[in-house]
Amino acid sequence: MTASLDIRHDQSLRSLNTFGIDAKASSYLRVTSVDDLRAVRADAALSAMRRLVLGGGSNLLLTRDVDALVLHMVNRGIAVSGENDAHTIITAQAGESWHGLVQWTLARQLCGLENLSLIPGSVGAAPIQNIGAYGGELAEHFHALQAFDFVSGELLELTKSDCAFGYRDSVFKHALRDRAVILNVSFALPKRWQPNLRYAELAAEMAARGIAHPTAQQISEAVIAIRQRKLPDPAIIGNAGSFFKNPVVSAARRAALLVQHPRLVSYAQADGSYKLAAGWLIDQCGWKGRSIGAAGVHQKQALVLVNLGGATGSQVLQLAEAIRADVFDKYGVAIEPEPVIL
Ligand SMILES: Cc1cc2nc3c(=O)[nH]c(=O)nc-3n(C[C@H](O)[C@H](O)[C@H](O)COP(=O)(O)OP(=O)(O)OC[C@H]3O[C@@H](n4cnc5c(N)ncnc54)[C@H](O)[C@@H]3O)c2cc1C
Repeated sequence: MTASLDIRHDQSLRSLNTFGIDAKASSYLRVTSVDDLRAVRADAALSAMRRLVLGGGSNLLLTRDVDALVLHMVNRGIAVSGENDAHTIITAQAGESWHGLVQWTLARQLCGLENLSLIPGSVGAAPIQNIGAYGGELAEHFHALQAFDFVSGELLELTKSDCAFGYRDSVFKHALRDRAVILNVSFALPKRWQPNLRYAELAAEMAARGIAHPTAQQISEAVIAIRQRKLPDPAIIGNAGSFFKNPVVSAARRAALLVQHPRLVSYAQADGSYKLAAGWLIDQCGWKGRSIGAAGVHQKQALVLVNLGGATGSQVLQLAEAIRADVFDKYGVAIEPEPVIL
């Protein structure tokens, strides 16, 4: 085994996942640079192990101990890395906190990421599911990223089209799954910025604050306030944010559903399809505030499953499956989990 790598065994992951699930990793390494990944790949025993790349653990449900080498990305650094007439390019290392990056940009009057304020987790994980909230998504201002390819041992430089971003989706969930470790991500932030108030609740919040022409900082503050009102803080009650993705259905399917369920909540998409509000579907099935063992559905937000104290990952999964089955029985719509379930 490579002497220079500080591999730990039976490492508790409890404080490293926002559900606060008590699980252990058989092997664990804090990755501070690409050299650590190269050393893992060069080591016969380590390279033969299964791997789990870990950021902030805010999109994970651990249902058992992790029999793998956990590569915890802790490489740090944010810098302006380029500029042209229209954009300032910034590059952040994977181990930086996402919200920390948003704050870093706003402190320098660099705008564009403000709608994504307060999303937990790391910069390196943000492209995996193309994080999105309050009318914005990562892909909008994404420039490029660097990743280490465990198969070839090479550094990959990926552009926006290489990443194939979609709704909570990217190439990292498909062709590059279990293969690419994202090292850093670059964003092109516009010099001529326009506020994005497409999301009705955010527009209403600005109106309530009496702000007609908000700055990016004011949008960030409003997003933070809305999120703090609506979402439980993982530091107080374990959760992974929205547990289910909003299901996407055709216009015909939505029309058929509306006949039976006239109050169905849905959002038109650019391609003519509709996103159904998964939280509404779950709420209508009577799940808000209910629990199985120590795993519960949040009192205020039916889309968020919570650890009421000492829940196991299996209990959370059991709860999720019961909810999924009820939604399917009532609406014939399959809802898919958003977090990675291990
Ligand atoms: C309270 C709360 C609110 C949330 N709100 C939102 C929201 O509004 N919008 C939204 O999109 N998400 C939201 N999330 C989900 C979560 O914050 C994001 O998915 C976030 O990007 C996950 O980052 P992470 O570092 O915690 O990833 P982790 O949970 O550590 O990992 C998630 C996945 O990414 C992989 N991964 C992590 N880092 C890397 C890397 N460097 N290279 C390759 N693979 C990697 C992991 O292997 C795993 O498969 C929320 C979560 C919580 C707890």
